[in-house]
Amino acid sequence: MRTRRGIAILGSTGSIGKSSLDVISSMNEHGEDYYVTYLVTNKNVDLLYQQVKKYNPIGVVIINEERAKQFQSYLNGEKLNVYSGEAGLAEVMSRGEFDVLISSLVGFAGLRPTLEALRAGKTVALANKETLVVAGEIVNETAREYRANVVPVDSEHSAILQCFTGEDKESIAKLILTASGGPFLNRSKEDLEKVTVEEALNHPNWRMGNKITIDSATLMNKGLEVIEAHYLFDLPPERIEIVVHPQSIIHSMVEFVDGSIKAQLGMPDMKIPIQYALTYPERIRSKYQRIDFGKVSQLTFMRPDVERFPLISLAYEALSQGGTATAVLNAANEASVDLFLRRKIRFTQIADFVRQALESIPTKRLPDIDEIFEADRQARQFVYAETEHSN
Ligand code: MG
Repeated sequence: MRTRRGIAILGSTGSIGKSSLDVISSMNEHGEDYYVTYLVTNKNVDLLYQQVKKYNPIGVVIINEERAKQFQSYLNGEKLNVYSGEAGLAEVMSRGEFDVLISSLVGFAGLRPTLEALRAGKTVALANKETLVVAGEIVNETAREYRANVVPVDSEHSAILQCFTGEDKESIAKLILTASGGPFLNRSKEDLEKVTVEEALNHPNWRMGNKITIDSATLMNKGLEVIEAHYLFDLPPERIEIVVHPQSIIHSMVEFVDGSIKAQLGMPDMKIPIQYALTYPERIRSKYQRIDFGKVSQLTFMRPDVERFPLISLAYEALSQGGTATAVLNAANEASVDLFLRRKIRFTQIADFVRQALESIPTKRLPDIDEIFEADRQARQFVYAETEHSN
């Protein structure tokens, strides 16, 4: 008999959340015993209600208070714990009625609840890279102190974890993160100025939420992943490299001191790394699509062009600076992506604002959590204020 494992999902109605529920159904079809304890959404209560009917959790958290009231009106006598707001979320996280938390809220919002789950000593399957980007030190310290584990869901970091398995840390020379290059790999600098929201949302290989799809188009996603890799695998920035690999078949690689390289390959489907995060260090059967090498036919590689995609360099600079610099980088990017999606700024201005925010906001060394929140607030305010001046 398999051990029963309870799963809570932060962000169950988002792209990773929906895939995670599919993974749980599919694992159970293969004889596993996973069940859902809590589902958390910001405001998509209609989908949440469908998920509740299908997965029968102990309870839900709806962060938006208005939507929580709306959700209450859907219930007729069902036995379900309904919590709302940040406070409700913190309470559910700290009680820890789950074995694994899938942390997949979008952006900075994932930080506090993820820390709560770590303090409850739980395993966190981390899909929310911003959590590590803004507060990597604090997340790692908290995990150490409460003997909790962080397992990456991000496909690149899942690949690196798989390449690491069975190796000593001393034998690792460097990490090679692969990047699809996004939809604008071959656009000239001038043409990037004219990119529309629709073009930027049309990623060639992966279907994802809006924020991460824009980050993939600017290559900021890869910059954030370098920072994520630094905190997950404890290697300095100069030993984390990016290689553009448009087919998205190799999900990342590790080079060893003897010159050997291990790579992890698979179809670009997030369900595979989600399942690995849930079963790690074991593997179980899945029905997901296999690579047909007759169809793939070639795998190509090139160096990223930091001239056209300056956010990569800005991410490396922020990581080298340390302290609150990565929180400023992340917040300025979140605010700029929001403005781009609302058609208030051009595509190339995302990088301009992130650079200006990094130059203007002083870095604090060894920040505590409140100082990180303050840096985040300052960076967002900076970007929104700058746009008001320029428009
Ligand atoms: Mg990724």
